[in-house]
Amino acid sequence: MHLGKTAVVLGGSAAGLCTAGALAPYFEEVLVLERDELPAQAEHRRGVPQSKHPHFLLNSGRRAIGALFPRFEADLIAAGGLHLMPSMDAAYLDGEGWSARKRSAMTMVYGSRILIERVLRDKVRELPNVTIREGVTVNALSTHSQRVTGVGFDDEEKIADFVVDAMGRGSSVSSWLVAAGWPEPEVRTLDAKVTYTSRWYELPADRPEAWWWQHLVIMPTPDKGKHPDEHDFLVNFFPIEGNRAIACMGSWGLDMPRTTDAFVEAARRVRTPLFSTAMDRCSPTSEVHLTRSTGNKWRRYDRWRTPPEGLVFIGDSICAFNPFYGQGISSAAISALLLREHLSRTTSLEPRFYSRFLAAQRKALNVPWRLAMARDQGYECAVGTEKPPEWRRRIIAAVSGPAFSFIVGAAREDPVVDEHFAKVFNLDESLGDMMTNPRVIAGLLRYRIRTALGRHRVPFGFDPQVDPPATDYSPAAAAVR
Ligand SMILES: Cc1cc2nc3c(=O)[nH]c(=O)nc-3n(C[C@H](O)[C@H](O)[C@H](O)COP(=O)(O)OP(=O)(O)OC[C@H]3O[C@@H](n4cnc5c(N)ncnc54)[C@H](O)[C@@H]3O)c2cc1C
Repeated sequence: MHLGKTAVVLGGSAAGLCTAGALAPYFEEVLVLERDELPAQAEHRRGVPQSKHPHFLLNSGRRAIGALFPRFEADLIAAGGLHLMPSMDAAYLDGEGWSARKRSAMTMVYGSRILIERVLRDKVRELPNVTIREGVTVNALSTHSQRVTGVGFDDEEKIADFVVDAMGRGSSVSSWLVAAGWPEPEVRTLDAKVTYTSRWYELPADRPEAWWWQHLVIMPTPDKGKHPDEHDFLVNFFPIEGNRAIACMGSWGLDMPRTTDAFVEAARRVRTPLFSTAMDRCSPTSEVHLTRSTGNKWRRYDRWRTPPEGLVFIGDSICAFNPFYGQGISSAAISALLLREHLSRTTSLEPRFYSRFLAAQRKALNVPWRLAMARDQGYECAVGTEKPPEWRRRIIAAVSGPAFSFIVGAAREDPVVDEHFAKVFNLDESLGDMMTNPRVIAGLLRYRIRTALGRHRVPFGFDPQVDPPATDYSPAAAAVR
C-alpha cells in the first residue's frame, strides 16, 4: 500500500541506498539525490573518502541488507566478495597470544567498501520506482508549520511526502532545521582520536604453506611497559575481492604514517613480523591513505518534543561511530529495515509515526553506541560530551582492555561464551545482555578458575614472533589427529 506519492532520499551512499530499498514498496516514486557522479564499477569517489579503508560487514548488517535486497549476499560473492569463517581463516593476535584455529558457526562476508556499495547500487537500480539523480547538491529543506515538505537541490525544488537525511557525518540538515525554527538538537560526542592509515596490495599468486590465513588481525599489546608506538596499533591485513588485501594500521591518539616509506617502516615495528613479511610478498597498488574523521557522534533528534513530520535520519547523519568497531554500515542497514517495518505497520504518516520511529531507532542505536563507549571512554586522548570524569576514565581504562582479552580467552574455550561474544560483535546482542546472561557468567567464572589453575582446553598464547600454527584445533579435528 502506498503511503504517499514521493519520497526523497538525500545521499546515495550505504545508508541512502538501503533506505531507498526500504521506501520503494511504500511510495509511488523514490528519488535519491547524490552529489557525486556514481561510478558504474566499484571505484572510489569524493563523497566517501573512507572507502580506502577496510570495511567489516557485520552479520546483523549482512542480514538486514539481505532482507532489504534479496540475493544481496549471493551477488556480493559473485562479484568477488569472500565468504570466510574468521575462526578458521583469520590469524588473530591479542593480549594473550595467537588464537588457535577452530571451526565455529560464525562466518562473514568480506569485500571492499566500494564493492559493497556497487552491489547495493545495482540492487537499487533494479527497483522500477527508484531514480538516482547524480551530480546534484542538496542545499535546503522546504518546511511548513511542523512539517518538512520538500528539498532544494542545485536550483530546483522537489515537493516530497517523506524525506530521509542520509548525507553522512557532515550533513547540514540539523542547521537547516534550526534555521527553520527547530531547537538545536543535543549532540553527544566522543572522539577517541582514532586514525586509520591504509594501503592496498595485490596478493602473490603463490603463498608459502605457513601463510594459511586470509585475514590477519593484530590487537594492541596489553604491555604497559616501554615499547614502540606500533605495538599499540590495531592492525589488519584485510582480504578483499580480486586477490587483494588492504594493509591497515590504526591507533587511538597516536601519530600515524602518511607516506609510503613511513608506512613500510612502521609496519616493520608492529608486534609481529607477519604483517610486514606479508606486505613484502605483495605488490602495492595504492598510495597511503590516512583518515582522522572517526569520532562517535549522535545527534539526539529523538529528544525533541516535536520532531519534524515528513523527515527521518538514517546512517552517519544521525549516529556515526568509531570505525574500529565496524558498525556504521550495519547500523544504517538496521535502521533502514526498522523504517520499512514501521512503514509496513502504518496506514498513514501521522505525526506520531515520527516520534515512534525515533524511539525505536534510539533503542537500536543504543546497542552499537554503548559498545563503542565501553572502550573509547577509557582513552585519555578522547574528547567530547561523553568523556567521563578522570577517576571513572581510569577505572574504565584499567578494566576494559583486560576484560576484553579475558572474554576473548574464555570464548576460545567455551562455545557458549564464544557464541554470545560473536553476537555482541555482530550487533545481534547488547553487551549488557551478554554480561548478565547466567550461562555466560558461569562460563567466565569457569575460565577464571581454569586459568588460575593453569588449565586450558585448547593451546594458545604462542609467541608473537613465531608464525601462528595452521593446525585445526577444533574438537572434531583433534579427535582425528
Ligand atoms: C576509516 C573508516 C573506517 C570504517 N570502517 C567501517 C567498517 O569496518 N564497517 C562499517 O560498517 N563501517 C565502517 N565505517 C563507517 C562507514 O563508512 C559509515 O558508517 C558509512 O559510510 C555511513 O554511510 P552513510 O551513507 O550514512 O554516509 P556516507 O557514506 O558518508 O555517505 C554520505 C553520502 O551523502 C552524499 N552527500 C553529502 N552531502 C550531500 C549533499 N549536500 N547533496 C547530495 N549528496 C550529499 C555524499 O556524497 C555521500 O555519498 C568506517 C568509517 C571510516 C571513516
